[in-house]
Amino acid sequence: MDAVEKAKKPFMRGDIVVYTLLLILSLILFIVTLGVKTERSNGFSVYFDGVEILKCDFENKSVTVIDNSIVKKIDDANYTISTNLGVNEIEIDFTESSVSVVDTDCGLSKECMHMSFSDGIIVCAPHKIVIRPTNLSGELIIG
Ligand SMILES: [Zn+2]
Repeated sequence: MDAVEKAKKPFMRGDIVVYTLLLILSLILFIVTLGVKTERSNGFSVYFDGVEILKCDFENKSVTVIDNSIVKKIDDANYTISTNLGVNEIEIDFTESSVSVVDTDCGLSKECMHMSFSDGIIVCAPHKIVIRPTNLSGELIIG
């Protein structure tokens, strides 16, 4: 084996490893994307510190306030969630089957206001608020 071949072989082996990893990665991404797309959400649940406080069904346009000491209704689409940790206001879009945080006092970055429901889950960590999509049978969608 001459010097050129010695230098070539590990490089090629490394190439195969990289391509194999890329192939596996793209397969995983494809499956994950497929799984999320097929399991369409038709509602969501809001949790405070792991306890469900509100649930919504987009199709029936029904909103159920489970803990009315925390959740206050502003109108059909807007609800205020206020706990000892702070306040979040959510807005439900029934036509787009979506929900978003439209106001909060959780910090300067207000990260929960920039999270998209279509990505799966909205979390306001400082306020221990989680908004999770639910599927047709009202079960949680993991993803
Ligand atoms: Zn927040």
